[in-house]
Amino acid sequence: MSISELRAVECPHCFGKNKIVFYSSVTPSSDESLRNSILNGSLFHYKCIHCGYEARLNYPVLYNDTDRRFMIYLIPECDRRMITDRVIERDRTRMPPVKKRIVSDYNSLKEKIIIFESGLDDMAVELTKLALKIKTEKQYGIETDCGYFSFCDKRKVGFIFFDANTKEKYLETAGMKVYQKSLGIAARLGRKQRMSRAFINVDSIWAEEILYRYHKYGMEE
Ligand SMILES: [Zn+2]
Repeated sequence: MSISELRAVECPHCFGKNKIVFYSSVTPSSDESLRNSILNGSLFHYKCIHCGYEARLNYPVLYNDTDRRFMIYLIPECDRRMITDRVIERDRTRMPPVKKRIVSDYNSLKEKIIIFESGLDDMAVELTKLALKIKTEKQYGIETDCGYFSFCDKRKVGFIFFDANTKEKYLETAGMKVYQKSLGIAARLGRKQRMSRAFINVDSIWAEEILYRYHKYGMEE
């Protein structure tokens, strides 16, 4: 069940009062429209009823997909790599662990939802993204500052990268072979984290660490 609360907010522009629904937890299986409004951004969209000022609301929310068994905790500007979930750690069920991730911005929340809904492994996706980022930067002689999963079909996985200086978009693809190889590396070198019942941060920093270990020590843990 989703948990929300109606709060009075003072507009930062005209100081008028607005009533806004804040969600501390979103469960898409019980409310599909909430999932859609997260993906299209409307859930975090603020528009003042007095002056029309618009902004993005930035607050912590837990996205809990109980059907697909994943949870994503959006904590704006969070720099923690791991958050222990004591309640669930005590729960020794025979079910495989729920995938639990921390993200620190809205775009990463959206990306994780799309990755998990596509049935992909987010660790393998991050490793594939990193390999492709290195290739793209070399190929065009650019530096990119962020990249996001875009699509996946039977033959390839696509990502969008942004030039750090010009903000120009690059849509690049990697073959499924790269993803499969990444999956092997993630299964081996990310084994402990895959078994973890804590919320963990699986992002580009995570991928860089794994790739570094892979190049230095191979598949040894
Ligand atoms: Zn206003």
